[in-house]
Amino acid sequence: MLKALLAVVVTVLVTQGAVIATSVYLHRGLAHRALTLHPIADFFFRIILWITTGQDRRQWVAVHRKHHAFTDTDKASSWWPSIWCCTSSSSPRPSTASATGGGGGTS
Ligand SMILES: [Zn+2]
Repeated sequence: MLKALLAVVVTVLVTQGAVIATSVYLHRGLAHRALTLHPIADFFFRIILWITTGQDRRQWVAVHRKHHAFTDTDKASSWWPSIWCCTSSSSPRPSTASATGGGGGTS
């Protein structure tokens, strides 16, 4: 019983770590630059995301900025354009380079 409870607690903590890292670090910190994190916090969130999701920060930021480019237009009248905007090769494409700070590459 104790092991099952421990598994639930660890699962909740890891999940919440990923949620907070995505919301605070990727979304507010990197995509919108609404806050600047201390380098230690930056490193901490990078480790959390690496362990929990393995996602590419620059890719997440680029896709999220593209998402905002379409949600603020008439194309956002339903859920479908949200998928269309990020998969259609004929869609207008906000610059990935500007969304990632111009450096390109992955990390
Ligand atoms: Zn956003």
